Amino acid sequence: MKSDEIILETSAKLDIASVLEEIAGEVAPLVGQGEVASYIPRLARVPANRFGMAVATLDGRLFSVGDAEERFSIQSISKAFSLTLALEALGGELWKRVGREPSGNAFNSLVQLERENGIPRNPFINAGAHVIADVILSQTPKPLETLLEFVRDRSGNAEVCIDEEVASSEREAGFRNAALANFIRSFGNLDNPVEDVLDFYFHQCALQMSCTDLARAFLYLANEGRCQRSGESVINPERAKRINALMLTCGTYDAAGEFAFRVGLPAKSGVGGGIIAVVPKVLTVAVWSPGLDEKGNSLAGATALDLFTTLTGLSVF
Ligand code: GLU
Repeated sequence: MKSDEIILETSAKLDIASVLEEIAGEVAPLVGQGEVASYIPRLARVPANRFGMAVATLDGRLFSVGDAEERFSIQSISKAFSLTLALEALGGELWKRVGREPSGNAFNSLVQLERENGIPRNPFINAGAHVIADVILSQTPKPLETLLEFVRDRSGNAEVCIDEEVASSEREAGFRNAALANFIRSFGNLDNPVEDVLDFYFHQCALQMSCTDLARAFLYLANEGRCQRSGESVINPERAKRINALMLTCGTYDAAGEFAFRVGLPAKSGVGGGIIAVVPKVLTVAVWSPGLDEKGNSLAGATALDLFTTLTGLSVF
């Protein structure tokens, strides 16, 4: 039996529903703790006392607990979708414009850009996501429609949409993103007008999805780039591997080392309190709880994922 088959068989024997119930019980005291992101005014109104978790497996099962069907603002989780589109469009050429190292700085920091000539450290800090947005704008006549169609296809939910109120709230408060994008443009690393790049970026961050949507949508990263339902290629296996690697090293803000230590999975978080994590060749797990720790990751969500990999033994390590 191949090692992949052994992992799948092991996961099939796990009682994931009970594991999720146990986790929900254990993290209950943490739910509501931490700070709900308030620098985007619309996000500050989200109640902190929410917790949802969903698991989608490559053999087609779905498990969930708590507020797993409630939609929330996925924010930076969207950067993994847009990276997929940009990498498919440009291939290895993309790495001339954006790096692949953890930044060691806050996700919205300006300091590195000056020293590093407008080449963002990685695609998951805001500066990197602006370059990725620029690539998508140059490749597609209707970039937002393309992104939305991609996310709807991946999640199998045609009702996934963008919350215009969140997008405009972020635009109104988006001075730092505007500074970053203008700065990158001054180095010649944006081809499109700054306004267009920011407009796309704020809209991608304002995608509203639930934990079950996210768990289903990211199955292609657990499945070597293939759609779990049809088996069709979404992105080639080598690129799926690289996106997972970037999620592991750069996906959870300036806490990716600590997150790898605790959870041991490729993951991408957002300031809306969501985190998506991938167990390659087995499953995806999405969690949401809006209270954030000091690095910007969901407090209860990170603990829930720590418990998940500890209880199931499913991690990349
Ligand atoms: N739209 C947010 C920003 O640019 C994304 C933050 C995040 O989730 O990391 O500040």
